[in-house]
Formats: sequence, structure tokens, C-alpha cells
Amino acid sequence: MRGEIRTVGVLGAGTMGNGIAHVFARSGLNVRLCEVEQRFLDRGLETIRKNLAREVAKAKSTQQEMDASLERIEGTLDRSTLAGCDFVIEAATEKFEIKRQIFAELDGLLSDHVILASNTSSISITKLAAQTKRPDQVIGMHFFNPVPVMKLVEVIRGLATSQASYDTVRALAERLGKTPVEVNDAPGFVSNRVLMPLLNEAVFAVMEGVATPEAIDEVFKLGMAHPMGPLTLADFIGLDVCLDIMRVLEDGLGDPKYRPCPLLIRMVDAGWLGRKSGRGFYKYE
Ligand code: NAD
Repeated sequence: MRGEIRTVGVLGAGTMGNGIAHVFARSGLNVRLCEVEQRFLDRGLETIRKNLAREVAKAKSTQQEMDASLERIEGTLDRSTLAGCDFVIEAATEKFEIKRQIFAELDGLLSDHVILASNTSSISITKLAAQTKRPDQVIGMHFFNPVPVMKLVEVIRGLATSQASYDTVRALAERLGKTPVEVNDAPGFVSNRVLMPLLNEAVFAVMEGVATPEAIDEVFKLGMAHPMGPLTLADFIGLDVCLDIMRVLEDGLGDPKYRPCPLLIRMVDAGWLGRKSGRGFYKYE
């Protein structure tokens, strides 16, 4: 029987994993945050500390609440310590082989009733579910960066996901103060299916000399009230990540309209990955 969710496991303490651990702990849940190396775990925990402190500085929470949240997070390098968790979400590197291993191992480790979620941006939930003997309890719980701030959670139903699993995850997202939106499993879900072709088209417009990156971003900020233009956003997400997702859409949907822009490919080949590498459509200090 599925009881109340009190302790959650989070795999990966990177950009998304530390944010996910943060919001669970802030909502009163105990968190076991699991990484593969101590330095990644330390970095994730430090980021959580800084982000919680920022919330205190902005009077969104108190020092006491921050201390209590930190107290609820236990870092670990030992996956077997997730055995007692009531819910587990994986936010590890976006590689199918890594996730396949995690799902297969956790399936053997966790109690039968435990739901296993993935924060993947592009890997099929149905395929991850098929690595386990609990496909009805595998689901996508897709958070947005920065997790403590962004309201949306895409809740993705794999082909076999049960209604009970869906209802549980929806309620869990609401408990975190997020707004869940129901989506069926398909390449890119809704967010990336719609966003990435927009960003890719903006790159085509640069390549074809239709306008400069600055001009294209201006059009979207002033004309469509986007907080960030598409090329600034592509640099922020990472041009390599954008390219990977376009390839998932192209492969998964088999339609040439998802062809990645040749300029995007060239920039990734050059190591111009956007903000994280110091250069993309713009230069960063
Ligand atoms: P990241 O590279 O910042 O972090 C991934 C972390 O996973 C790394 O610290 C790595 O050491 C760790 N890891 C690798 N194998 C592991 C294992 N077996 N067990 C535990 N930890 C392991 O990546 P990220 O941006 O946080 O992305 C994580 C997931 O979230 C991906 O599936 C990605 O598609 C998805 N996602 C990312 C974003 C985003 O904006 N970055 C948004 C939504 C979803």
C-alpha cells in the first residue's frame, strides 16, 4: 500500500537536482540527495545553501526555516540508502544509458509501491518505464530552471503510467507550490516540442542574415513580451542542449521541419555553447 510521502530520494545534485532537493526540503519533506562524486554533492549542497540564504535575504523565508530545510537534506554517494524512500526522482545526466542503469537498479531496491520519476527533458518515459517491473509507477516530473522559482511542472504520463501514480505526482507537485500540467509522453513533451523549433528558427534567421541576434531578441522582447529573446535563451540553456533536443525531435517525429539549423551545429562544433562556455550568440565574461 502506498502511504504518505515523507522521504524522497533525488538522484543528481546538478543544476536541476539541487533545485528539486531544495523545493522538497522547503516543503517539509526529508530528502536523500544522491550523487556519484563527493565534489558534485558538495557543490550541489552549497548551491542549495546559497539559494535558501537568498530567499531569507529577500524575506521570502526565515533563517529558522532555512536551517530546518538544510537539516532535512542528507547527502549521500551510496544509492542503497534510497531504499527507504517513499518517492524517488532522477535528475542525473541526460544520457539514456545512465538513466537506464539507475532505473533498473532502483527498481530492485525500492519497495513495490514506490513511484519512480524522471526529470528528463527529452528521453521517453515509456522507454524508461520498460527498464523496470513497475511501468505503471514510472512517470515524468519535469521541473524548470531555476527550480525554486519556476512554477511549472510538466507531469508526463508514459504509455503504462497508472491514474493512481499520476494523481500522486500531481498532488506532490501542488504540495511543492508548483502548478502541474498534464502531458502525454511524446518527443520533447510540450515545452521543448514547441520551444526548441522556435529557437532553431531564430538561428536560421541569423544564418540567413534576416537580422542580427540583438534585433531578433528585441522583436520577441518588445513585440511578444518574452522576458528573454530566443537567442539569449538558447545561450542560457546551452547550444549543445538545444542541438541534442532538436535531434530528439527530428529522430522521434521523423519530420524534416525539426532539422537542426546548420549554424547551430557549427557553433556547437566550435565549442561555442552559450553562457557556460563564455561564447554563443553573445559573449560572456
Ligand atoms: P547537470 O549536468 O547539471 O547535473 C547532472 C548531475 O547528475 C551531475 O552532477 C552528475 O554527477 C549526476 N549524475 C550522473 N550520473 C549519476 C548517477 N548515476 N547517480 C546520481 N547522480 C548522477 O544536469 P541538469 O541540467 O541538472 O540535468 C539533469 C536532468 O534534468 C537531465 O535529465 C535534464 O534533461 C533535465 N532537465 C534539465 C533542465 C535544465 O534547464 N538544465 C531543465 C529541465 C530538465
